[in-house]
Amino acid sequence: MITAAREAVDLLIQAASSWRFEDNRHGLLDREWMALRFLARANRFSRTPSALAHFVGISRATASQTVGRLEDKGYIQRTRSDQDKRSVVLDVTPRGENVLASDPIAPLVNAIAGLAVGANKFRDLLRNVLEQLDARRDRHHADSCRQCIFLTEPTSKRGSKTLPEYTCRFFRAGLSGSELDLLCVNFERHKAGAF
Ligand code: SF4
Repeated sequence: MITAAREAVDLLIQAASSWRFEDNRHGLLDREWMALRFLARANRFSRTPSALAHFVGISRATASQTVGRLEDKGYIQRTRSDQDKRSVVLDVTPRGENVLASDPIAPLVNAIAGLAVGANKFRDLLRNVLEQLDARRDRHHADSCRQCIFLTEPTSKRGSKTLPEYTCRFFRAGLSGSELDLLCVNFERHKAGAF
């Protein structure tokens, strides 16, 4: 069993060449690809320079440079947050969405999508591995609302006014169903598992 686990780690390390590389690919460094990819998958609370730094594992200064490079290329744009005018939200532009079509990680995504065991099963196994690592490091990985302890299920209607579909108790904000599968760095694992 340990041998198979060790071999799996050896293979994962080699698969990492899909997202870690020294050169430019389609004009972007691996860190810039990671940033653009994250911003395309992150919810509105996590599309910030600090969340980006946290997710990619870089300093705030390096995240700032990365954001600047992506802005210069027209792949992202910054706007003031509706909730906090001192904060900025980073959004991927249509030009950024176009460049994501040539993301070097796409062959890996396609390989996982084609697994006989199924992409859902593979995702769940990886999530389980990450949860074990999180427990050892006393931290939480970024994940989606469906797994999060702060998500409350749909509320009832009050009078003629329809309340938000879901609510985030961490941000005290409403969430639409379409936001539930996006990444959030403030995610905290739902103890009872997904609902
Ligand atoms: S419910 Fe959890 S994952 Fe979703 S926005 Fe709130 S803190 Fe983030």
